[in-house]
Amino acid sequence: MTGRPHHPRVSIVAPFYNESAAIQHFFAKVKAVLAELGCADYEIVCVNDGSRDDTLAQLVAASRHDPHIVVVDLSRNFGKEAALTAGIDEADGDVVIPIDADLQDPPELIGVMLEQWRAGYDVVLAKRSDRSSDGYLKRRTAELFYRVHNRLSDTPIPENVGDFRLMDRMVVEALKLLPERRRFMKGLFAWVGFRSTIIEYVREARVAGSTKFSGWKLINFAIEGITSFSTAPLRLTTYAGIVVSILSFIYAAVVVIRTLVHGIDWPGYSSMITVVLFLGGVQLISVGIVGEYVGRIYMESKGRPVYLVQRRYGKNRDVAEGR
Ligand code: UDP
Ligand code: MG
Repeated sequence: MTGRPHHPRVSIVAPFYNESAAIQHFFAKVKAVLAELGCADYEIVCVNDGSRDDTLAQLVAASRHDPHIVVVDLSRNFGKEAALTAGIDEADGDVVIPIDADLQDPPELIGVMLEQWRAGYDVVLAKRSDRSSDGYLKRRTAELFYRVHNRLSDTPIPENVGDFRLMDRMVVEALKLLPERRRFMKGLFAWVGFRSTIIEYVREARVAGSTKFSGWKLINFAIEGITSFSTAPLRLTTYAGIVVSILSFIYAAVVVIRTLVHGIDWPGYSSMITVVLFLGGVQLISVGIVGEYVGRIYMESKGRPVYLVQRRYGKNRDVAEGR
């Protein structure tokens, strides 16, 4: 496909949560890369996700000096998924590139992404070919997550592809059409489809500061992902129920026959308690899984916004806010 401009308007979208130590490195790097590529028409949409350090002050100061920088200040910490949604909603470029503020996603790739976009691709995914900068446990659990998720879900998400990618305006508009409140971005990105291609890169270590995702946050994130895109766990409980019922019928038959052959059979406490406990466990798990989905229906039915903006800063934005 031809006809795409050599220099589209580029929107870089970065979520910031307590990134005070990384901000200056981030701007320096991104601006240097864009300058080298000859991109003059661009914006850097910075979403402050309720940081408790001086991240907001630094971002606002940067936006005063540089008309390319736009700041969206959320009213509290809404989490990375919501922050990304806010940034993507705010972005007005022909292409939109979400990127982590800690420079773990190398901005150097933007050049290659743009080349692929000019070649006609609507989505250019950046795949981490080497995650050795992440710990062993994180790599193993990530691997497990992708395997389980892609087994259960109808929309597989490409392995080791993060939020770092280039999206055409058309794809962004499609994303905005998805009404769900609980946004598992990786899955939503995969769901919208379009012509996509993958480029590989090596995941860098954080430039400064420390990760904002603890073990529990990651586990919850994984459950979120799987329940957002698949109802297979519900089906699983049905299967488990069927299997357990068949087994208990067989066992009942065994007990009846044994009693008929050997007469009344008193000892049996251990086998009975085992069965009772086992069934109790299966039921609790099933109720938990059903509850997980009922909970999501409840949350979605409230229809609350994904994020709330406290204030916008940057070119023409302060004025628009009327303050
Ligand atoms: N982040 C955010 N809100 C949060 C947690 C993280 O906006 O509640 C941002 C964070 O500032 C960074 C990006 O999401 O720009 C990725 O976070 P982090 O580097 O901590 O995750 P990791 O790379 O360790 O998976
Ligand atoms: Mg990081």
